[in-house]
Amino acid sequence: MSDHERTFVMVKPDAFARGLVGTVVSRLEDRGLKLVGIKVETMPRERAEEHYSEHEDKPFYDDLVDFITSGPVVPMVWEGQDATRQVRQMIGETDPLEAAPGTIRGDYALDLGRNVVHAADHEDEGANEREIGIHFDDDELIDYDQHDAEWLYE
Ligand code: GDP
Ligand code: MG
Repeated sequence: MSDHERTFVMVKPDAFARGLVGTVVSRLEDRGLKLVGIKVETMPRERAEEHYSEHEDKPFYDDLVDFITSGPVVPMVWEGQDATRQVRQMIGETDPLEAAPGTIRGDYALDLGRNVVHAADHEDEGANEREIGIHFDDDELIDYDQHDAEWLYE
């Protein structure tokens, strides 16, 4: 279990409005990932700009920041073996048209700008810890034993 890591995931405002919070959480729980942080909030603009700073030069940046601050979101931290890669596979390609059926975006989204969920990018080294640090204080992440860990991991 040496490659256990934490990763940042967030239900976006479109999914919140559509009542998909539980669905997203259930998918990650069912996979065996461990929930260590979760909250509901409307993201302050300054934090949204920091969250999406890698896209600040892109033409869609302003719309992206407007959208992510437009309604409630559910920032979360999940832990598990290869958690960042596991979650990225589960959410699917950025454009729902390219996202395979069976992925979250492939099952619940149609449009690139309304793609239900954010997750830290495994190809961007350190994105998981950086994004956790942007959205959570250390004391908001809880430490507990995952009771079924011995059945999830060799
Ligand atoms: P992600 O990591 O899969 O969410 O994708 P990116 O980090 O590349 O982009 C962040 C978010 O910006 C995506 O989830 C999309 O909602 C949005 N986005 C990405 N590319 C485009 C684009 O070309 N046009 C528009 N309108 N939105 C985009
Ligand atoms: Mg990204």
